[in-house]
Amino acid sequence: MVAPLEFMLLLSVAVGGGEPDAEATRRLERRVVAISAAEPLVGRGEAIEDELKALRLMPQRRTFQSAGGEGANLLAEVPPAANGTPVRTLMVGAHLDRVEAGTGAVDNAAGCAAVLELLGRFQAKPLKHHRVVGLWFDQEEQGLLGSRAFAEAVGEPDTEGAAATFPDLFVNIDVFAYGDTLWVHHPDETDRAAAEKFVAGTADRGERAEPFPAVVGAVYPPSDHRSFAARRRGAEPGSAAAKMTVLSLSLLPKEQILETVTFLEAMEGGARPARAGLPKVLALIHTANDTPSAVQPADAVAGIDAVEAGLRALDAAAGGDTDAPE
Ligand SMILES: [Zn+2]
Repeated sequence: MVAPLEFMLLLSVAVGGGEPDAEATRRLERRVVAISAAEPLVGRGEAIEDELKALRLMPQRRTFQSAGGEGANLLAEVPPAANGTPVRTLMVGAHLDRVEAGTGAVDNAAGCAAVLELLGRFQAKPLKHHRVVGLWFDQEEQGLLGSRAFAEAVGEPDTEGAAATFPDLFVNIDVFAYGDTLWVHHPDETDRAAAEKFVAGTADRGERAEPFPAVVGAVYPPSDHRSFAARRRGAEPGSAAAKMTVLSLSLLPKEQILETVTFLEAMEGGARPARAGLPKVLALIHTANDTPSAVQPADAVAGIDAVEAGLRALDAAAGGDTDAPE
C-alpha cells in the first residue's frame, strides 16, 4: 500500500515533457554512483535491490550456473493496476556486471538506473496492456551468459513468478549514459515496425514535441537482446517465444552511433582496427575512464523520457487504443 502523499510524489515525476526533471536527474546520478561504487561485484546487484526496495518493488534473485561460474540475475515486477492484470508482458533489461577496468558506469550502471527509473514511472502510471518486468543480467561481459540462462528458462513449465511467461516485447538497454540520440536496434526485420512505431511514439512528451532524434538499424554491438533473439529463432512457429518482439536501445551523440556502425561493418568485412582507431564510445567503455564522471545524467533522463513515451505508444498500439499514435 502506497501512502497518498508518496503516490502524489511519484506522479509528479512521471508527468510533463520538455526539460528533464531535476529530481529524476539527481536520482539517476545517485543510482549510477551507488551501482558503480559497489565492491565486490556482487554489490552491484545489492545496490539495485536496495533501489527496488525503496520503490517498494520486491527484488527476485535468480541464480544460475554457466561456463562463467555461478551468477545471479535480478527481476522485479511492477504490480498491476487495481483494474486488472494486463495480458501482455513487457520486459526491460540491462546488464549489471562490468569488466575489471573502470567502474562500469556508462557500461552499464546507467542502463541499470534507466531500467529502475522506467519501472518507477510504470508503477506510478501503469501501462494499460502490458505488465512490466525489470531485469538486470549478470555475466553479460563474459558472453551474454546471464541473459542466455534467463532466456532459456523463461516460459518453461517449472519457471515461477515474473519469468513464468515469455515477454511480448523485450527491450534491452546498454550504454545509455550521455548524448542526444537514441540508437534503436531491431535484431530482425520482423522487429523493424516496432522500432519505427517506438521512435514515432517518442514525440509524445508534452506540448508539440518532435520525435526524439534516433538512428534505427540492424547493425549493433552484441548485448543481451541476442539471447532473446536466439531463443526466438529456435522456437516453434506460432509459439509465444516465436512471437516476441526484441529491441535494444542505447543513448549516444549521433556521430558516435554512426562511427560505431561504420566500425562494426568494417569488422564484419574482416578489418581488425587498432585501439587508436576505435569509435569514441568503444574507446571509453572497458577502460579506467568508464566512471560516473563520464555519465551525463540530464542527457540520460531526457533519453528515458523519450523511451517512456515510445513504450507507452507501443502499449497503446498493442491494445488497439483509438488514441494510439500512427
Ligand atoms: Zn554493456
